[in-house]
Amino acid sequence: MKSGLLGPYRLTVDGIGEAVKEKAPGVFALGHEDFQGRFRITHIGRSDDELKSSLRDMIGTSGLFKYITVETSKEAFEKQCELFHMFKPPGNSLHPDRPPGTNWTCPRCMQRHGRW
Ligand SMILES: [Zn+2]
Repeated sequence: MKSGLLGPYRLTVDGIGEAVKEKAPGVFALGHEDFQGRFRITHIGRSDDELKSSLRDMIGTSGLFKYITVETSKEAFEKQCELFHMFKPPGNSLHPDRPPGTNWTCPRCMQRHGRW
């Protein structure tokens, strides 16, 4: 299955700095390489404002990451939902929540997830 994400890169300050240049919202996948060298996704996350700083917060939780930056936080939310349904990552026990203050529905299951 193709995620459409760039990488993988090392989940370190240097790895993130070299991979992500722009200040933008985005979606990331954390994971590791299996014995055949394939990237295995363990968690799908998103950043509503700045992907780079969200990735920095995840340093230490995983060895590698993939990512894509997008124009708007709505695109980030929809891409995260898509990847969540596609890969069902073990680290995502719950469906992604929409950002506070929005009434967005998931493009895949058409549900409105979140407490807000
Ligand atoms: Zn959904």
